[in-house]
Amino acid sequence: MASRNYQLVIVGYGGMGSYHGKLLKENQSINVAGTYDILAERKTASIADGYKAYESLEDVLSDDTVDFVLIATPNDVHKEIAIAALKAGKHVICEKPVTIYSDELVEIMETAKINDRAFIVHQNRRWDEDFLTMKKVYDEQSIGDVFHIESRVQGANGIPGDWRHLKEYGGGMLLDWGVHLLDQLLFMVDSKITSVYANLSYILGDEVDDGFQVSITFENGITSLVEVGTTNFIQLPRWYVKGTKGTAVIYDWDINGKIVTQNFGEVEAPKPIKAGQGLTKTMAPPSEKAVSTSELPKVEKTMESFYENVVSVVEGSAEPIVKNEEVLRVLQLMETIFKSAETNEVIKDFELAPITTI
Ligand code: NAD
Repeated sequence: MASRNYQLVIVGYGGMGSYHGKLLKENQSINVAGTYDILAERKTASIADGYKAYESLEDVLSDDTVDFVLIATPNDVHKEIAIAALKAGKHVICEKPVTIYSDELVEIMETAKINDRAFIVHQNRRWDEDFLTMKKVYDEQSIGDVFHIESRVQGANGIPGDWRHLKEYGGGMLLDWGVHLLDQLLFMVDSKITSVYANLSYILGDEVDDGFQVSITFENGITSLVEVGTTNFIQLPRWYVKGTKGTAVIYDWDINGKIVTQNFGEVEAPKPIKAGQGLTKTMAPPSEKAVSTSELPKVEKTMESFYENVVSVVEGSAEPIVKNEEVLRVLQLMETIFKSAETNEVIKDFELAPITTI
């Protein structure tokens, strides 16, 4: 492995900026050369963590030793920092959601192309083990052909921090968490979207959504429900997926869960049970021999890590795992979700809007 030959500056040294700093300590190719943050206390924190604290963005951009700028500021300033950094000849890694509006990303993609620099969005949850486990179930057809996917994250702590409560900074849960869950869903299901219907929630009284539910149907017939909540004192499973031969569930980020599949052949019919004030055979548990329970598959490392991929892209030896066209599609989908929630309409022409290829 090459020595740490790339110098990176973190712009926005808050929660996620400092997390990147910690992750990059382990990286063999990229060295964190410094940080820049508008807050004096975050400059002090940067120095305490052993990094140079740049005085201004201009200082970062005019430093010829800097190869990468990593943007971890609130969402509203991603675009202006990305464009300035690309024009200054830096490669850029940007936090999600890359921008608030899709046309801002198009502008960034054009600037990256003109300046021949890499621009890569940190859609890190493509590497989440729960997602990769369910993707494996999906790809390997362990429960037959998947026809329904439910993907949820639910907390009980409301919207965290300050700027996430405000529209002008790109706050709200659709932009914050929705972008991850939608990115995962579109990475898993290789099919066009045929309909979108969404509700946003404003239970906490903020000007931005504190959660949402969206139903997305694909051309291949798969239906899906993506849900984010911040007022859920009891959580539903992280993943609940149904296929023609069984059901798979993942309860949490520790990958607790199981697969239950139907046994074909001669099996005893279910016995009716008393349910509430009635009798049911339909909803009775299947007889013991009618189903098999198995463990979820183990995920092996099949793709480069995010930072390995960034380096490979810059060196021309790999395509980006997170492609800007995919990120753009997710942003356009989120715009469609906002529109569906606002108009209370099922939107069917989402994929008719051309995805810009730069
Ligand atoms: P934060 O508020 O903790 O940190 C943001 C920092 O940016 C602050 O220190 C602030 O002073 C600084 N800042 C604001 N404007 C700036 C500017 N113009 N120039 C330089 N610094 C500036 O926020 P956070 O939770 O770290 O979120 C930052 C970004 O990271 C957001 O885009 C967020 O969506 C993203 N994020 C991603 C993940 C993930 O898993 N990928 C997780 C958390 C946050």
